[in-house]
Amino acid sequence: MMIPIAEPLLGKEELENVTAAVRSGWISSAGKFITEFEEEFAGYCGSKYAVATCNGTVALHLALTALEIVAGDEVIVPALSFIAAANVVRYTGATPVFVDSHPDYWCLDPEKIEEAITPRTKAIIPVHLYGHPSDMDEIVAVARKHQLYVVEDAAEAHGAEYKGKRVGSLSTIACFSFYGNKIITTGEGGMCLTSDEKLAERMRLLRDHAMCRDKKYWHETIGFNYRMTNMQAAVGVAQLGKIDGFLVKKRQIASWYAEGLAGLAERGLIKLHPEMSWARCAYWLYSVLIEDDFRMSRDALIGRLKANGIDSRPFFYPIHIMPPYKSDNRFPIAEETSRRGINLPSGVGLNRDDAEKVLSVIRAAIPT
Ligand SMILES: *Cc1c(COP(=O)(O)O)cnc(C)c1O
Repeated sequence: MMIPIAEPLLGKEELENVTAAVRSGWISSAGKFITEFEEEFAGYCGSKYAVATCNGTVALHLALTALEIVAGDEVIVPALSFIAAANVVRYTGATPVFVDSHPDYWCLDPEKIEEAITPRTKAIIPVHLYGHPSDMDEIVAVARKHQLYVVEDAAEAHGAEYKGKRVGSLSTIACFSFYGNKIITTGEGGMCLTSDEKLAERMRLLRDHAMCRDKKYWHETIGFNYRMTNMQAAVGVAQLGKIDGFLVKKRQIASWYAEGLAGLAERGLIKLHPEMSWARCAYWLYSVLIEDDFRMSRDALIGRLKANGIDSRPFFYPIHIMPPYKSDNRFPIAEETSRRGINLPSGVGLNRDDAEKVLSVIRAAIPT
C-alpha cells in the first residue's frame, strides 16, 4: 500500500446524499442538491452567486466567456501553474501572457504584472498555488489601474484566506475545482463564484447551451453544456459540511512536516511551504523546495520516496517551456521553483506515522 499524495475522504454522509439523489430520480442537472451546494459554497466563500459546473477547467472557460474575452485579447497567467488557466485562454481564441512567480510564496508576482500589460490585455488570472493565496490587493490595484478583470483560479485553495477573507470573494469571478484530489471533491466538478448578478445570470445561460429562459430551444449565442449533476452536488454538499475539519487536518499535516524538516530548513537544504503574514494557507499539497546543497536531486528524492511506498509529485512544469506555449521568454523564479519543488503526501487520511515515514526517508537522503 502506497502512502497516497492526496485521496478523498468519503463517508456515510456522501453515500446518504447520493442515495437520496438516486431515489428522487433527479440524477441529471436539476435537483435540490445543485442549488443547496451552490448557495452554501457561495456563502462559505463570502460571495453572492454560484454557478456549478462539470469541472474546474470549464468553470474558468465559462468565466472568460461571460467576460467576453475573445480572439485578439490577452490574458495574464502565471508561468508556474497547472496548465488549465493557459488552455482556457486559448479556448476563447485569446493569448495567454505569462508572468513570473514571487520567490517567497510561488504565486503570480504582482510587481511583474505591469510590464506584461499591453493595450490588448483584458484580464489577469491569479492562481492560489498549492493552497497559498495570491497577493490580491496588489493584483486588484494593478487591474483597476488598467481596467482589467481579475479571475481567481482557486482550484487548489478552498477555504484559504487573504487578510482574513476567504479566497473566492476577492475578484470579479472566482473558479474552483472539485476533482478527486482537491480539498473537497464531487468526483469531477467545478464552480464559478461572483457577486455580480448580471455575470451570474450570463454564466447560467452559457452553462446551459445559452438557451432562452422563456423561449425553449431558442439560442441567441453559442453556449455550452457545462452543467454539474445533482449526484455530484449531493457529494459536494456532504463534503462542504466537512471542509472545516479537512482544513484543520491539512494544517496539522503541515505542522508535522514543518517541525520534522525544521533542522534541514535551518541548514539551508530545504525550503518549507510558505505562509505569508497576510495569508492563511489551505495547504492543499504540502510542498517544499529542495535546495542545491541537498545531496540528492529532487527527482532522485521522488524515486527514493516511491521505493519506500510513498507517493509524491514534482511541481508543475512552467507553462512557457511546454510545446503548446513554447516561448523564448525566461521566467527565472518560475523555472527555479518548478525545478526544485516537490509535493508531499497531504491527504486528510494521512496519520502521524505516515508523516514520520515520509520524514525519515527525506532525512536519510542527506549527509549527517
Ligand atoms: C485542478 C486544477 C484546475 C482544473 O480543474 P479540473 O476540475 O481538473 O478541470 C485548474 N487550475 C488549477 C490550479 C488546478 O489545480
